[in-house]
Amino acid sequence: MAEIIQINKNTWRLEDGFVRFFLLEGKEKSVLIDSGVGSSDAFELAQTITDKEIILLNTHGDVDHISGTGSFSTIYMHESDYNNCGIGHKYPKTSLIKVEDGDVLDLGNRPLRIVHIPGHTIGSIAILDINERVLYAGDSVQKGHIFLFGNHRAPELYLDSLSKLVSLTSEYDYIYASHDEYKLSNDYSIKVKNAWEKVLSGQAIYEDADLFGNKVKSYTLEDCGFYL
Ligand SMILES: [Zn+2]
Repeated sequence: MAEIIQINKNTWRLEDGFVRFFLLEGKEKSVLIDSGVGSSDAFELAQTITDKEIILLNTHGDVDHISGTGSFSTIYMHESDYNNCGIGHKYPKTSLIKVEDGDVLDLGNRPLRIVHIPGHTIGSIAILDINERVLYAGDSVQKGHIFLFGNHRAPELYLDSLSKLVSLTSEYDYIYASHDEYKLSNDYSIKVKNAWEKVLSGQAIYEDADLFGNKVKSYTLEDCGFYL
């Protein structure tokens, strides 16, 4: 069972040990942003926090973010990850509601803007909580290593996505991450972008590493890094 920690009046983080997900409440509805790795009961869990209607919105389709999908009848996410990550096969009773770059979901006096940021996965999105000035960035901006190897990744698109997040820094003060430290200041997206540019230009060194049976290049630049 994930540990529920209240961040402020209408925002909670749910910590399941490996990954973090979030519940945001508006005047009319609530949204669960992701559902962790071991929370197949995510809907029931969210109901213990809010009595408003609850929708599920996924930052991306990696297995550690989607365990509660089957407890909802619909899921909001980018179509690319829904298809590439086989969500329809894994959860045949849950249907897709597509979200795209620029869409705004309003929870009732709490608008959330979708920002498409392909890289970590092709269908990764960030969610800008406009009034609260917080960016939920999934696994695309975090302390520690960001996975960019394997299927359904798009490292060739990642720099443009980071540039997009940097261009939006006047609209958010904090980034809430899914792994490692939960609260990062907005300039952390600049730090990740600078680090990624060093990797792309060949200025960063790497070590060979074995990750879940994959041979990867592990780049570490201060407190951020990448697995390629
Ligand atoms: Zn993750």
